[in-house]
Amino acid sequence: MTMEPVALADPPPSTAEDAPTARQKIGMFYRAVRQPITLICLAILALQIVIALAAPLLAPYDPLQPNVQHRLESPSSAFLLGTDDLGRDTLSRLIYGTQTALIASAQSVAIGLVLGVSLGVFVGYRGGWWDRIGMRIADVMQSIPALLLALALVAVIGNGLGKAMLAVGIIFAVGFMRVARAVVLAERERLYVDAARVLGLRSSSIMFRQVLPNIAPPLIVQASIALGTALLIEATLSFLGIGVDATAVSWGSMLDASRQHVSEQPLLAIFPGAAITLSVLVFNLLGDGLRDASSPRGVGGGKRKKPAKNTAATAEAEQNGTAKAVTTAPASAPTADAAKNALLTVSGLTVTTHTGAELVSGASFHIGKGETFGLVGESGCGKSITAAAILGLLPKGVEVTGGSVQLDGTELTGLGGEALRQIRGRRVGMVFQDPISALSPVHTVGRQLTDAIRSHSGLTKQQAEERAVELLSLVGVPAPRKRLLDYPHQFSGGMAQRVVIAGALACDPELLIADEPTTALDVTIQAQVLDLLAGLRERLNMSLLLITHDLGVVADICDRVGVMYAGQVVEVNTVRGAFNQPRHPYTEALLAAMPHGANGSEALATIPGRVPPAWAWPQGCRFHPRCTYAVEECKTGFIPLDDGVRCRRAVELKLAGAK
Ligand code: SF4
Repeated sequence: MTMEPVALADPPPSTAEDAPTARQKIGMFYRAVRQPITLICLAILALQIVIALAAPLLAPYDPLQPNVQHRLESPSSAFLLGTDDLGRDTLSRLIYGTQTALIASAQSVAIGLVLGVSLGVFVGYRGGWWDRIGMRIADVMQSIPALLLALALVAVIGNGLGKAMLAVGIIFAVGFMRVARAVVLAERERLYVDAARVLGLRSSSIMFRQVLPNIAPPLIVQASIALGTALLIEATLSFLGIGVDATAVSWGSMLDASRQHVSEQPLLAIFPGAAITLSVLVFNLLGDGLRDASSPRGVGGGKRKKPAKNTAATAEAEQNGTAKAVTTAPASAPTADAAKNALLTVSGLTVTTHTGAELVSGASFHIGKGETFGLVGESGCGKSITAAAILGLLPKGVEVTGGSVQLDGTELTGLGGEALRQIRGRRVGMVFQDPISALSPVHTVGRQLTDAIRSHSGLTKQQAEERAVELLSLVGVPAPRKRLLDYPHQFSGGMAQRVVIAGALACDPELLIADEPTTALDVTIQAQVLDLLAGLRERLNMSLLLITHDLGVVADICDRVGVMYAGQVVEVNTVRGAFNQPRHPYTEALLAAMPHGANGSEALATIPGRVPPAWAWPQGCRFHPRCTYAVEECKTGFIPLDDGVRCRRAVELKLAGAK
């Protein structure tokens, strides 16, 4: 298996139009500053930062130097905000207090973020006992009132503002950990994480490069609230005398100093109080604004970009549905020698839930090199679970309990870790049903493609980008260099599926698994995507496993077909054989229910009843409650897959083919 990129179609030349726009580069910042409130908050925060940094230049007096001759003076030209009980200039103390407040808040939140997010992402992604231990520790810490815990930690690590804020950071870490873990638990079930696994990305890369950016919005909100809270805690600790010492100034210590002189000089309390209130408000409003802006669908970012006009036939086809992207029909693949020449051999594959329900029971089929094999059946028959089992992508609580899956002689069942990563993406690619969900919403498609390419190759970033441009060009995405900078929501469904296919082809796989690749697409786009897959299969000489509920799709591009019902493969046949002379009554029923051949005057046939759930598979032939040919002997005993068909009456029945 070579890692050299396949020979691709000539990519379109780079043009000025392909260059990234400045607006695209500044994405999140641009969206944030379009919100007036966020803009105002950013301006206030920027001003506070400048004041904190330039405090020695801005403060007219030494904030710590007593000047009893001027104690408790009202605002004047000499002391713009008056003086405190020791004659110290209130304005100067307020300026230096800004420095203390910002540094202390940033310190504690940074500690909480780094510690909490790392732990949250780790326990959320790994799950199991890591998660249980992490959450029990978090429960214990959160069961203790925060102030008590802070005081206990201060008692352990010592007095002083720095140590106090370290204690606050540790307390914040619990909250960040919970937020990160909760979001990761949801995110890890998302299709784009499965897609990243299929592409062979390492767990650490998936955790921190794919999942972490997707949890940014809730963390930003949490961080901004925490900044405000930290600022309040710093002020409170200083007010209580366990924050800053006499060598520094804090808004909290200013409040403390004002307590005994409120009746004489009320302004002493008003200025630091107003500074604290304003800062907390700024952090909270800023968090809301950044949360919206951090999502590509945020303010003003949710408009779907119209597919760019282009001269490529594929793009025109997608726009008007009048032409096909790739007109090459699939070449007839070898079928007679397919078993001997099999690339993928699935034998007796059994997949079971932890409750004992069999989702797939002894599935067997093979796919020849260069062959397109269709796996067809109604929803709930076990097609997608079979594909997931092949790639080791079964959900938690579901496992392979029997059988074998061999890729060109390599046993895949039981593989894990690095060995499985080397198979996914490198030797087997996968295309999912919903292309938008299969792409990470917060990364550009360029980043996602280059990550996939680089995870299996030694290419530099620039080389990987060139390869990504080639792949997008190969799958018919117009202006590919420019589109590398776009987010998934800026693509139409058909174009997004082309991007997913490009990702699946990133490392020249031997086998491409396409799980209902056209179900989520508009009907006019479906044929183009199928033709694209068929054309790529032939052009790249790979094998294709196409999972679908639509026999019409099978007829279009497959060489052979496996029909699944209730977790079992009930017929394996050539497409021509299955359509002309089906051997299992379920295949016949599926053919009769095909809408493709029906004319307006004929009522479309339906299959009575529905697929039973996995915990209620019928005894005997699982299809017998719905089979019009069922006899008593069909209701008992195990029926094997014999000569490609699983039916007691296969020899005697003369079933009708497609009309
Ligand atoms: S075994 Fe019996 S019930 Fe099952 S498909 Fe064949 S004829 Fe129908």
